[in-house]
This record gives sequence, C-alpha cells and structure tokens, in this order.
Amino acid sequence: MSEQKTNINPPLFSETTEVWTILSSVNDPEIPVLSILDLGIVRDVKFDAEMLEVIITPTYSGCPAMDFIAVTIKQALSENGFKKIKITHQLSPAWTTDWMTDEGKQKLKAFGIAPPVGKFFDISYLETQEVECPHCHSLNTKLISQFGSTACKAIYQCNDCGEPFDYFKCH
Ligand SMILES: [Zn+2]
Repeated sequence: MSEQKTNINPPLFSETTEVWTILSSVNDPEIPVLSILDLGIVRDVKFDAEMLEVIITPTYSGCPAMDFIAVTIKQALSENGFKKIKITHQLSPAWTTDWMTDEGKQKLKAFGIAPPVGKFFDISYLETQEVECPHCHSLNTKLISQFGSTACKAIYQCNDCGEPFDYFKCH
C-alpha cells in the first residue's frame, strides 16, 4: 500500500494503518473498480483527542458522488469500531489527476474508461488532447461531448474501431 500514497505522510500509529486499510476498501460510487485511494482523494488521516478525522479532496467541485463517498467512509469506519468520525473536505490544493495511482489508471482502462492524461481540465485541452481508445489503443479519437454519463466524464469516439468511450476528465 505504501506506494499508493507517496505524497502523504506515513502512518505513525497502528490505528492509522488500520484506517488506511479500511479506506482502501471504500470504492468510488461512479467507478466501482476504483478505491478512493486509487483516486487519490484521501489527503490525510488524523487522530485529534478521540476524534478520527479523514481529510478528503473532491475530484470535481460539483461532484455529487463526494457526499456519498463521505457517508460510505463513515459507515466503513464505524463498522470497524471507530465511533467519532469527522470527514473534512479540503478544497485546496485542488485534486489533480496526478494523485490518481498508476494502478488506478490501469483499472480505469480495464473498465473501458480512458484514464486522465493531463493535470488540468479545460475545454480547449479536451479538444486538443490525444486520448487513447481503451478498446484498441488508437490515439485517433475525437471528442463527442464534454459531458458523459456523469459530469466527471466526457464522451469520445474512436475513429479507428468506431467505439464510443468515456474519458475521466476530473481535474
Ligand atoms: Zn478504438
């Protein structure tokens, strides 16, 4: 697990390690093959007096999935005996796709969603960025719609195999 959170301070207590293990079992509601650690949205785990605080950074400011994720984290921790849990949303620094683990990007691809290729999202970037088709690996693809099945995804179509696919565009 250590390689999954290189930008996060190493756990200091065994309880902290346990919390990270529990968090690794919490999956993203929109892309269930990804854990929230694969996404890189968990910034820190802190014990303040008797309160356990989990700090998360939303992948996308308007993402309704984040509320669901917070509830799921609380539920998973309380099922494992943690009672006083606080979920803090940290908006700055903003999440970037750099925080997604390589393993997470591979899982996305296997799930048929093109993993994010850059750090930031903007429209011109979507139009100019080469996005690899998750089906045939062609880079000859085109943007069909800025918004896919959720606001976090865009729809692309492959010019070679003709398959449409989702592109995970959260910045
Ligand atoms: Zn293709």
